Amino acid sequence: MSVPFFDWAGYFRERAEEFTQIIVETAGRGGFILQRDVDEFERDLAEFIGVKHAIGVSDGTNAILLGLRASNLKSGGEVIIPSHSFIAAAQSIHYAGLVNVPVELAEHDWLVDPSAIEDAITERTVAIMPVHVNGRVCQMDAIMDIAQRNGLEVFEDSAQAAGARFRGEPAGGIGRWGTYSFYPSKTLGCFGDAGAFVTNDDSIAEAVRSMRNHGANRQKTIELSVDIWGTNSRLDNIQAAILKYKLTYYPEAIARRREIAMRYHDAFKDIESLRLPPPPDDGDYYDIYQNYEMCCEQRDSLRQHLGDNAIGTIVQWGGFGIHQLHGLGFNAELPRTDRFFKESLLLPMNHILSDDQVEHTINCVRGFFGVAS
Ligand SMILES: *Cc1c(COP(=O)(O)O)cnc(C)c1O
Repeated sequence: MSVPFFDWAGYFRERAEEFTQIIVETAGRGGFILQRDVDEFERDLAEFIGVKHAIGVSDGTNAILLGLRASNLKSGGEVIIPSHSFIAAAQSIHYAGLVNVPVELAEHDWLVDPSAIEDAITERTVAIMPVHVNGRVCQMDAIMDIAQRNGLEVFEDSAQAAGARFRGEPAGGIGRWGTYSFYPSKTLGCFGDAGAFVTNDDSIAEAVRSMRNHGANRQKTIELSVDIWGTNSRLDNIQAAILKYKLTYYPEAIARRREIAMRYHDAFKDIESLRLPPPPDDGDYYDIYQNYEMCCEQRDSLRQHLGDNAIGTIVQWGGFGIHQLHGLGFNAELPRTDRFFKESLLLPMNHILSDDQVEHTINCVRGFFGVAS
């Protein structure tokens, strides 16, 4: 029995016939750039998430960059982000001419700590960028409240949280705008790079729609009178066709992830050396479990043990928070985030795992701690 952390080819094999048919049909009619497949996927995604506008773009990192550029923020302004995050958002903040301020996580959900955000606000702060890591929404009620009291914008890096909710509100649709990634290993993954930008704000949507295609107007033609600085950040049309199809069974894929998270939770909750993420049944939260991330002081030997049993695991982002990337000029001291990255581990988590694979993973984790199965 082997449990690869992520079975790349398995994601095609699960419905190879349907995917092949979509690719052949779309390519056969020359549907390569901004054809009806992009429009239809955008319409379906907006409806699924529950936002006014969804705009397909090249990837999740550029979605953030376009959003920041469309938001007309004061150059050099500070953006508060969690250090427990991928570098992507920080890179876009940097490229948009803004300054990253990484802050601590909260102990109970390992997401950005609202009180750390509040403490980091200065007169240069322009925005807060919560990152809904692992498919769980940050404490958005507290964050929106802080933003309102301080006159700050909120932008959501929801790359890992398309479909996650907090009190019924969608990740990505709570702040001014949000972004998703459809990188293959994301919950809604395609067969290459892709992403989306979502917002309920008409003027931001219009700007981003134009900017992703060299400043073209609504008719998708580039007029002589381009009046906005754009770029090429279009969603590939064949990827859009694949994504439109994958969205039709995305709720089932999320349900399967939640089922696996519940089984992990039940199997591990009595192991004292493990610190677990909140289980799926958690009041106001609807988590989609992009990852199942847990913490353990013996992380490295547990990882070795699982590897010896052909179970793939990952230490997310190489085990570094943003504030630890000293080569990029960061030097904040964030002890909770430091400890987290020394102890955190991702177990296999995706909708194509078999029950036997989940069982094997559970038995090996319990075996490591000497707990009978
Ligand atoms: C994957 C990811 C991104 C970047 O998405 P790409 O589509 O790979 O550019 C940004 N933020 C987070 C938290 C991510 O996990």
